[in-house]
Amino acid sequence: MNTTISGIGMTSQRTRDRLVRQLEEAGIRNRRVLDVIRHTPRHLFVDEAMASRAYENTALPIGYGQTISQPYVVARMTEALLEGGPRRKVLEVGTGSGYQAAVLAPLVERVYSVERIQGLQRRAREVLSTLRIRNVSLKHSDGGWGWPEQAPFDAIMLTAAPREIPEALLQQLGEGGVLVAPVGDEGGSQKLIRITRTANGFEQEVLESVSFVPMLPGTIT
Ligand code: SAH
Repeated sequence: MNTTISGIGMTSQRTRDRLVRQLEEAGIRNRRVLDVIRHTPRHLFVDEAMASRAYENTALPIGYGQTISQPYVVARMTEALLEGGPRRKVLEVGTGSGYQAAVLAPLVERVYSVERIQGLQRRAREVLSTLRIRNVSLKHSDGGWGWPEQAPFDAIMLTAAPREIPEALLQQLGEGGVLVAPVGDEGGSQKLIRITRTANGFEQEVLESVSFVPMLPGTIT
């Protein structure tokens, strides 16, 4: 591996190990999730000017008014999604930088990720290709419609917050599948929820309070 990917100084393995220790202290228990975060070069998913801060446990700007989520939140949502069963096909709404998709990729069979801002989607595609991550499919579209051609999914993750979970997404969840999402108004109170589809309907749990950019309708080219 070259130093672009392996990192030096503030992007080195030692810096990444420190982040993983912080996540463990914050309560992340899933070893596989922690290992993937340890090995995923988050500094490649942020602007070069931000690279030295890539292994701080904070959200960072990625352009277009969007942010790469805080590593703790990425870890928590990934852990919540994996609990309770193997997840083969996973849909992500809000590709953004592509970091969350890169974290999911080694943990599931295939990731389908949709993004409404084309510029972000293009950049994510480049980074994922640099990292030779091949089981992530990207699409430029309004994630409120899901990805019907690929449904049903074993799990769906939203990384932007709607006021209410769009009905189309619930319908694309297979039985036994889970949907993990922040719900609520920007700047107001948002909750991270997990919805499980059972034979009888949908069950909802509230996991914790979070702060996400809003899920918006339509696409931007
Ligand atoms: N998972 C991303 C987080 C990016 S922030 C990462 O790891 O970097 C949330 C992203 O959701 C933004 O890029 C935003 O443009 C996108 N988004 C918001 N509403 C959307 C919608 N309706 N469909 C698809 N993407 C959406």
